[in-house]
Amino acid sequence: MTANTQYCEGWVMPFKRKSRGRAKGAKGKEPMVQCDNCGAYVPRSKIQRITKRVSLVSKDLAKELKQQGAYLAENVITKNLCISCAIHYGILKVRAREERKVTP
Ligand SMILES: [Zn+2]
Repeated sequence: MTANTQYCEGWVMPFKRKSRGRAKGAKGKEPMVQCDNCGAYVPRSKIQRITKRVSLVSKDLAKELKQQGAYLAENVITKNLCISCAIHYGILKVRAREERKVTP
């Protein structure tokens, strides 16, 4: 028996992480959210939400305008990414077994 197995009334259920990769806990159901990159439907607690501030003008022009005392508005972009897209874009990293190990 490995360390990451759960004993539940006679039968063994293996799991990779203590939270099973989700944050819902004992809650039964959650709404599904669509990934903004690949379009996959993912449970809401499993989604990676990324917020970025994006300037509407290029960096060089923005620097010049700021020196002259101009106020530049920035757009805030929020993205919902599934786990595989988050790993692809380097937001999440694959961890070793010891790092995600269940410690009693
Ligand atoms: Zn995706």
